[in-house]
Amino acid sequence: MSTEHKPVPISFEFFPPNTPVGSDKLKTVVQDLSAVKPEFFSVTYGAGGATREKTLATVKDIAAMGHEAAPHLSCVGSTRESIREILGTYRAQGIRRLVALRGDLPSGTAVAGEFRYAADLIAFIRQEQGADWHIEAAAYPEYHPQQRYAKKDLEHFAAKMKAGADSAITQFFFNPDAYFHFVDEVRKLGVTAPIVPGIMPIHNYAKIAQFAARDGIEIPRWVALKMEGYLDDAASVRAFGIEVVARLCRRLIDGGAPGIHFYTLNQSALSLDICKQLG
Ligand code: FAD
Repeated sequence: MSTEHKPVPISFEFFPPNTPVGSDKLKTVVQDLSAVKPEFFSVTYGAGGATREKTLATVKDIAAMGHEAAPHLSCVGSTRESIREILGTYRAQGIRRLVALRGDLPSGTAVAGEFRYAADLIAFIRQEQGADWHIEAAAYPEYHPQQRYAKKDLEHFAAKMKAGADSAITQFFFNPDAYFHFVDEVRKLGVTAPIVPGIMPIHNYAKIAQFAARDGIEIPRWVALKMEGYLDDAASVRAFGIEVVARLCRRLIDGGAPGIHFYTLNQSALSLDICKQLG
């Protein structure tokens, strides 16, 4: 692929490791990924706050290595007081960027708490903390799986952005037209903020197909059949996965995407290979 393209900002997403060994390994991954000078690294937050301490510890590790770290924060099931306390802890650590989400409670858990939607959390952060946070929200180019009506989902997304989000990161997808259509639709609703594609390198095809089926994400038939045909030929899965994802990124960037956010699953090699393909 050509190397004559203007670079776009890159960011990487991690989940908080469960063990000290995992934390050490993640530091090496951060080090490796820093070669492409990412804008920030984000760290997910377990459903209902299950990883609260681990998310904080991971964010601190990344910040201590001199990089911008953005914790994810979900609000469903939380009280205003608990969110206030978490924001205070991050603020004291010098963190000023976060990914604000509704989240999903584990099934069987009652929906208690003082927030219903991500828009409520975003409005609360702005109201309590002012303008000095960079707030990212989640976007779904193939629509949120719990929303039956596309038009409603677009309107809810626009309302969430108007509540005070600075930019959005999308759910992963493989169909660039879904992204471009989503961006066109929300622009018509007055959303001007950058909408950064979330990209899933294909680490393990079976697992990604499972995530996609759960979250209502289309895997094109030509990709699915070819991947399924490779069976356990890991080298072919890897090479084809890089080709498909790098081509997707190229189309997105050429079509105006303002950046790329990689779902790394705490691994560096595939994301780096894709960045290399992109020049
Ligand atoms: P919302 O924007 O609140 O939307 C949720 C649903 O409610 C949608 O169907 C929407 O159409 C509907 N809705 C919104 N407003 C209204 C309204 N006023 N009336 C009626 N319906 C409404 N999950 C985690 O647990 N931890 C993470 O770290 C995490 N990180 C993520 C990062 C990214 C980039 C993305 C894309 C998703 C992430 N998720 C994470 C998953 C996310 O929490 C789930 O998809 C969740 O179901 C929705 O969260 P949201 O912030 O998009 O919700």
